[in-house]
Amino acid sequence: MKKTLIILAAATAAFTAATATLTACKKDAQGTSKYVISATYDEKENCLNGVVDFTFYNSTDNEISDLQFNLWGNAFRKDAKYKPVSDSLAAKAYYAGRSYGGESVEKVEGCASWEVGGEDANILNVVLNSPVYPDQTAKVSITYTLDLAKINHRTGVTTDTVNLGNFYPVLCAYSQEGFINAPYYCNGDPFVSECADYDVSLTLPQGYTAATSGKQLSCSEAGEVVTTRYELKKARDFAAVLSKNFKTVTRNVSGCEVTVYYCGNDRTTREIDAACESLEYYSKTFGSYAYPTLSVVFTPLYVSGMEYPALTMINSALEEADSTYTIAHENAHQWWYAMVGNDQVNCAWQDEGLAEYSTICFFENHPAYGYTRTQALGTAVKSYRAYYSVYNQIFGKADTSMSRNLGAFDSEYEYVNVAYNKGLLMFEAARTAMGDKKFFAAARSYFEDCRFKIASPDDLISHFSAKHDLEGLLNSYIDGKVVI
Ligand SMILES: [Zn+2]
Repeated sequence: MKKTLIILAAATAAFTAATATLTACKKDAQGTSKYVISATYDEKENCLNGVVDFTFYNSTDNEISDLQFNLWGNAFRKDAKYKPVSDSLAAKAYYAGRSYGGESVEKVEGCASWEVGGEDANILNVVLNSPVYPDQTAKVSITYTLDLAKINHRTGVTTDTVNLGNFYPVLCAYSQEGFINAPYYCNGDPFVSECADYDVSLTLPQGYTAATSGKQLSCSEAGEVVTTRYELKKARDFAAVLSKNFKTVTRNVSGCEVTVYYCGNDRTTREIDAACESLEYYSKTFGSYAYPTLSVVFTPLYVSGMEYPALTMINSALEEADSTYTIAHENAHQWWYAMVGNDQVNCAWQDEGLAEYSTICFFENHPAYGYTRTQALGTAVKSYRAYYSVYNQIFGKADTSMSRNLGAFDSEYEYVNVAYNKGLLMFEAARTAMGDKKFFAAARSYFEDCRFKIASPDDLISHFSAKHDLEGLLNSYIDGKVVI
């Protein structure tokens, strides 16, 4: 995500949750899980009716008897314990007053039993007919309805579009302690999932255009509706944005079809260039982009941007200078989040810090956009020091540790400074210590080894330390001991 930095009053309740140890990015699975999704958008009811035929491939070393899926859409229901937006930003997000949604499961077939539970009705637990052993598969079919709130958020009916982030039950990532259950924290992106293959059919009323994560395979009309089928391989999520008013610009960038979607006035050449040039730069700098398409979608959002595999949402209200920065940041997440995954709930700095730093590297190499590395670093230092001073005054001592559960951040202000600004400064310190050649070689080897997996902080540290002894430096940032 790219946050709009807003200084908030501190001190809301802090939640803590156990840090799960993710399976390190060591094992190359022989197979992959697969989602076959058929979903129909009902514009009168503001809902999506879907069926997910899910084939689970057991890539763990354990016998698995039950599966757990995230029902992220349930965070939008009226009685949710964890609200999808903080109170301070709710007025900006709920453009037509409070509105609610939810994700209800109608039935699950191919299993012994199922129930919706978790801390906040956020988990679908499915007991399988029989255990699945390593490298074996099991199939279940989930019929569900996603009710959409009227909200300018990653999931919701916005003022111009329908944002369909996290629109189906997504298998929880598996850790050494079992499936990871995280509630929908309003700070950050509380999503951790493994890569899988997707075959998605969206049925929409005539007149709608869908921007999606997938490559279109076919399209057929039947009366009042149009069904389009998409494919996406080795992705940890699949998203879409719908609109009756989309205009598009498509360019081919090194074999990838980049399409910019927007409503209203044409976007500027510089914004289209940023979408294409950043993809090209990151491909050359870190390693090839894995997907055949990239959708860069201008859509109403209460934050600046939001990333999904092969699709980025950009706040359509941003002016050119902010939108080009946000495009570069969200596109960097294709490398740090989409292809190289991480535990975004407990180690958000890992993708946000690297995405911010990659953005600065892009602008450093494309000076025409007007951002300089010196300027960006100066802004990050100033903002971080201000946070440190404010939190010292309020709490007596600022917690500057970086690997923290999203629920342990008191505010968006703290989260942005620790995950984004301190993350960015940490990678700058690493680059200064190593020199450019070793730094970018380390980033490339981290990408290559951890692509399509979930990388732990140790994976990142070991790749950078392999080129230069950086363990102490990186840990001093992550633990919070370094003085900035
Ligand atoms: Zn981000």
